[in-house]
Amino acid sequence: GRHADSKRTTGFHYNGLTFDQESFHVFAGLCAVDNPTHVEEMMRALKENGQQCTRMGAYKPRTNPYTFQGHGKDCLPYVFELAGKYGIKVIAMEITHESHIEEIDECLEKTGRPTGVMLQIGTRNTQNFELLKAIGRQKEYPALLKRGFGISLNESLNAAEYLASEGNANVVFCLRGMKTDGGAPHRNLVDFAHVPVIKRLTRMPVCVDPSHSVGNHERAPDGILEVTHATAQGIIAGANMVLVDFHPHPSKALVDGPQALTLPDLPAFLEDANLCRETY
Ligand code: PEP
Repeated sequence: GRHADSKRTTGFHYNGLTFDQESFHVFAGLCAVDNPTHVEEMMRALKENGQQCTRMGAYKPRTNPYTFQGHGKDCLPYVFELAGKYGIKVIAMEITHESHIEEIDECLEKTGRPTGVMLQIGTRNTQNFELLKAIGRQKEYPALLKRGFGISLNESLNAAEYLASEGNANVVFCLRGMKTDGGAPHRNLVDFAHVPVIKRLTRMPVCVDPSHSVGNHERAPDGILEVTHATAQGIIAGANMVLVDFHPHPSKALVDGPQALTLPDLPAFLEDANLCRETY
């Protein structure tokens, strides 16, 4: 940022990329991996647009037990191989149980480590202390910790401390909106004004997730997607990372289709993000 004191930034390097309070990366990708064709279409679009990061959900924490729960470890081989093919260096991937760390590690090993993985801790698991300790104990993979949607900021920051106290300080903290009145007009109340607060209170790079905050694919009267508006707020406030849902065919998405942006939205989304970043 314009006035940032570089001495404050510690951050980390992972698989050739830097993550700190100065860096900036967009992680556009699938909320949930559904099939290899969609993964490939997504990754090809990312490569065509100069991107080296993505989000890919394999293990999905669902509110309703009768809905698609994610392909889990079965999809990892093609996700990692396609990432290698399209030059993706880091995939943000949520895990919901500590056994998933080993599944990811084994599959990366088997496929020749074509990419890296940032272990995402979802908002429903921000206070899953045993999961936090397990992710903290391993040092191979950095962590992307979501803010808890119904707890205090201080409680979420303590969750980050669980990771660090177990030995893994390679943590990015992600704002994703807070629960309010029945999820209207947005799925969650956008909390991106807290980006500079987290940067002031901690040394963590800060990510924003406009998709899970806004939760729709609506356009404002100015013709701009509300997800894009929220992203702009986050970046102008100093966000170091953006996690955002895209899907080649949102109507066929198995999770969160209504909030996914389409591949033709990608160039304008990135252009807008980079413009906001330049004005920060
Ligand atoms: C996600 O990013 O896929 C997700 C489930 O997000 P959250 O934990 O913020 O709801």
